[in-house]
Amino acid sequence: MPSLIFRKGLDMKDAVAGILSENYHSPLIEEIKANQFTYAAGRLTVHLAQEFGFCYGVDRAVDYAYQTRSRFPDRHVYLTGEIIHNPHVNDKLRALGVRFLSDAGESFDALQPADVVILPAFGVTVQMLADLDARGCTLVDTTCGSVLNVWKNVRKYAEQGYTSIIHGKVWHEETQATASQAVARGGAYLVVFNDAETALVCDYIRHGGDRDAFLKRFASAASPGFDPDRDLRQIGLANQTTMLMTESMAVGEMLKAAMLDRWGADALPQHYQAFDTICSATQDRQDAVVALLKDRTVDLMVVIGGYNSSNTANLARICAESKPTFHIADPDCLLSPTEIRHRPVGTKSEILSQGWLPPDGPVTVGVTSGASTPDNLVALAIARLTEFCG
Ligand code: SF4
Repeated sequence: MPSLIFRKGLDMKDAVAGILSENYHSPLIEEIKANQFTYAAGRLTVHLAQEFGFCYGVDRAVDYAYQTRSRFPDRHVYLTGEIIHNPHVNDKLRALGVRFLSDAGESFDALQPADVVILPAFGVTVQMLADLDARGCTLVDTTCGSVLNVWKNVRKYAEQGYTSIIHGKVWHEETQATASQAVARGGAYLVVFNDAETALVCDYIRHGGDRDAFLKRFASAASPGFDPDRDLRQIGLANQTTMLMTESMAVGEMLKAAMLDRWGADALPQHYQAFDTICSATQDRQDAVVALLKDRTVDLMVVIGGYNSSNTANLARICAESKPTFHIADPDCLLSPTEIRHRPVGTKSEILSQGWLPPDGPVTVGVTSGASTPDNLVALAIARLTEFCG
């Protein structure tokens, strides 16, 4: 029997409003917003970015997860994996009895038709959805509208014979889901992570090259049976929604220039398409941190969000270009006025650093957080800063 799919909530919004507010909101943050996003205590001043924290897609996904738990108190409720890339939020859901199919000991094969499965904000692959559907589970689809918009365009590329070149992280669930949309429509895809990878693709577009070396280089980032001689003749650009806007634009410009060289201006529209798929929430958060760095004088930046959160990592990258920047996963990373656990920009591991906070005199800290970070964690981080500054 096909699955029952909830896509627009479960009519329990009012029932979960209280617990959501208790778990994730913060009166302190509301006060700071009302005070022009500035907070002062003793020698500490904090400037908060004007857009930060939960985006509309995450807000909705978390809301639906709580609604699901309330609507089906007697049934097993699963998530396919992390609902969003924030350990605090995922742990809260675990505490409510929501199980994660990505956890050790859990298995898709054990799912029964009576089980309820929540799909995350960044979506799942076409194959996974078909598998869940075949099992007859009740599904709660929280895939964000901005991700659905990318899928719509990727499907259109595939139907028109264009290969989707996806600027994203091949290991990220959203990019995997987006790529699967191309394949499901009989299309091809290639994922490029940065300008160095894009340059390789551009070189092949312009001059051709060693086909086997190209395939080896992009082995895990290309659709099955990818043929660069065939599949780079007509391309369409798409992005993971949380990439850095400036980088996605640069990737697009590089590809467009290569196609222009290869096919000429008159034929370009037949060979290259692009559309902007950075979501507005990601863009707003990036713009807000750029504005904070321009308009305020800060000694350092604290960026709060899961280390596997793409949009948080990109906020930290923007900050690190001009200020000492500490990307922390959680307020607990602020260990003391002298010690901090954080993940330096461009690295994959958390480290312990000393002497991160100026020991005396006025100190001004800029704060922002990724789209999967709730306000209460930002408030806790500010409370720790206050404590550390006496
Ligand atoms: S970051 Fe953007 S695409 Fe992702 S869930 Fe939030 S609003 Fe949707």
